[in-house]
Amino acid sequence: MCSARRAITLLFLGHAHVVGTDEDDQYFTHDVESWIDRSTFANPEMTIVRSVSNQFRIPEIIVLSLFDRLPKKQVKFTRENIYRRDAYRCQYCENRFETKDLNLDHVIPRDKKGRTSWDNVVTSCIPCNTRKANKLPEQAHMFPRRQPKAPSWRPLFSTTQRPLPCVSWGHFIDLNESDVALTE
Ligand SMILES: [Zn+2]
Repeated sequence: MCSARRAITLLFLGHAHVVGTDEDDQYFTHDVESWIDRSTFANPEMTIVRSVSNQFRIPEIIVLSLFDRLPKKQVKFTRENIYRRDAYRCQYCENRFETKDLNLDHVIPRDKKGRTSWDNVVTSCIPCNTRKANKLPEQAHMFPRRQPKAPSWRPLFSTTQRPLPCVSWGHFIDLNESDVALTE
């Protein structure tokens, strides 16, 4: 996701093409000239920017010509990204919770030399977290539903924004709620 300003800049620099999705089930890519032509036919529902002599439709979808600016392959180790990897599901009772009712659990507790890393930290609800305390999985008889590991980015991403900012995004975004941006 990027700002309209950045999308337009990339387009003018020739670093991106617009993906037009007006036609049923057909996609066309446009460079800046053909997009300007196309902007002539903008209808009032479309978001446009105007100059003195021209109007320019703000593209909703662009495709990059260069891939050096894609997100890095490695996913940052953060609380939120662990929740996302685990689809906001407690890895012990398997229920889904809101962020405020979630916590992180060290599968091997820290005081038993468990590391704070992708392969030892899982999403846990507060009651399960309290129940497991600083016991080993075998001692607590609580094992994470999935063996935790570092996720990698999918080529497609999903967003928690509903409804989507643009209808056309629905063609490219996985709307399956359980399928988050991070997968194994
Ligand atoms: Zn739980």
